[in-house]
Amino acid sequence: MILRIQRKHVNLLKQEARKVDPIEACALLFGKIHDDEVLVRKVVVTDNKLHSTRRFEISAETAVDSMAAAEREGLEFIGFFHSHPAPATPSRIDMRFMRLWGDAVWLILSLTDSELKAYQLKDGEIRKVAMNVIP
Ligand SMILES: [Zn+2]
Repeated sequence: MILRIQRKHVNLLKQEARKVDPIEACALLFGKIHDDEVLVRKVVVTDNKLHSTRRFEISAETAVDSMAAAEREGLEFIGFFHSHPAPATPSRIDMRFMRLWGDAVWLILSLTDSELKAYQLKDGEIRKVAMNVIP
């Protein structure tokens, strides 16, 4: 699978993450899914309900409203973005939630080295997803 995301969305996510650092920033990702290609078309930056430097939670109300709006726009839910004040690898808590969310994509930004990486649970294992930043 390949995740395609526009440069402007990457910039927005980085900007939001720096703004709330060291608290983890979070966002919902929506777009189009065609076979093995996922295209991000919409990024909804949300509050981290926990105001935590180690984990994030998006309120159910925000998630439901954002998902309903995206559906009206003909977009599918792709997954979650969040930042880490650490390397861009899923934490143990992330892994637990990844297992609950099936095939959602988890996009993680490290604020220590600015690396942006994507992961997905596939065949019961957490795997890195190839990414392509497009203009
Ligand atoms: Zn995390």
